[in-house]
Amino acid sequence: MKKIKVAIIGSGPAGYTAGIYAARAKLKPTIFAGEEIGGQLMFTTEVENFPGFPKAIRGPVLMDRMREQAEHFGAELEPHFITAVDFSHQPFRLWTQLPSSVSAPELIRLKQTDYSVLAKQIKQQPADYLVDSVIIATGAVPIRLHVPGEDKFMGRGVSVCAVCDAAFFKDKNVYVIGGGDSAMEDTLALTKFARQVNVVHRRANFRASKIMCERVLHHPKVKIFWNSQLTEIMGETVVNKIRIVTKDEKTDQLKERVLDADGVFLAIGHRPVSGIFTNEIQIDDHGYILTRKSLSAAGLQLGLTAVDKGVIAYPSMTTSAGVFAAGDVVDVRYKQAITAAAQGCEAALDVERWLENNQS
Ligand SMILES: Cc1cc2nc3c(=O)[nH]c(=O)nc-3n(C[C@H](O)[C@H](O)[C@H](O)COP(=O)(O)OP(=O)(O)OC[C@H]3O[C@@H](n4cnc5c(N)ncnc54)[C@H](O)[C@@H]3O)c2cc1C
Repeated sequence: MKKIKVAIIGSGPAGYTAGIYAARAKLKPTIFAGEEIGGQLMFTTEVENFPGFPKAIRGPVLMDRMREQAEHFGAELEPHFITAVDFSHQPFRLWTQLPSSVSAPELIRLKQTDYSVLAKQIKQQPADYLVDSVIIATGAVPIRLHVPGEDKFMGRGVSVCAVCDAAFFKDKNVYVIGGGDSAMEDTLALTKFARQVNVVHRRANFRASKIMCERVLHHPKVKIFWNSQLTEIMGETVVNKIRIVTKDEKTDQLKERVLDADGVFLAIGHRPVSGIFTNEIQIDDHGYILTRKSLSAAGLQLGLTAVDKGVIAYPSMTTSAGVFAAGDVVDVRYKQAITAAAQGCEAALDVERWLENNQS
């Protein structure tokens, strides 16, 4: 069983940045990279909004540079996927074994009750790592529709991040799929660039806040397809058409249409990758890990319980002392590479201080 001072779970911008800071603080961190070494940016092409790269940088290149920087200062990269954790007492225990019946991507998607059964099985084996502190940086997965063409055209007309990609669709005809707050925000962000923004929503009204809905409904560039579902994305090298099916409200009859399209923005939410931490730390109803600075009422409450001399002690700490979290897995609001990296930095600084104050 290997002993580690700082275990960082996840190798996206949050995990690598935490690795850089913890390594420079001589804490010899180990970064567990998981199945997707480099995280979500490995699946994108140009990143135009990460500071320091005026002419953009390719996502995988940016992530390779972050990894190199963390390793340069002494962070150790382990390709393992963490399959179970025990934060009930220190040192914490981490497992990397996976029963042959399940793969890592399947484990991430398991229902909580099914995962609990699996975790019990995994924890019957001796743990693989004993750790003094943990930074969780496991990210969030954009929810996908799994319609034909979606994977093929991801990054070639299909996007899961309007903030990141809206500027690539100047004077284009784009479709936003969804009806919640993120869909409204993405729609409004796109109106600044696109010629026309169409919203495809499966219900007859939006679930978003009233003010956002009004802005979308009254925007001259926006057209809404109510009671409609995207069923296919088509094109040659890039997206050029989509297929939608609309249900007539009165007759329930379905009408299929093929429409010209330059882009499709999926805005149906994110699923934080937090399943293996349930029962170990507090997680909100949407799966986000709660820290003392979470942007939610529960986060505010937690922060207030940790005020020391007028400021919140260890803001990135979860409900378990010594366990910290950063990046999209805690971030209900921003979900950008730069915010994830910043939160990784904060978590590493909090860990450093916490270890100083809590270990002899
Ligand atoms: C297609 C696409 C394009 C984007 N473009 C931009 C952009 O242009 N600009 C921008 O700012 N943002 C962009 N984003 C958003 C950005 O990628 C995320 O906000 C950012 O990557 C979040 O970083 P993170 O470190 O929190 O998590 P992630 O990048 O999601 O990384 C999570 C890491 O955790 C690992 N992991 C998960 N579970 C485990 C486990 N049990 N054990 C070990 N490791 C585990 C994964 O393997 C992965 O390495 C884009 C996102 C997508 C999907």
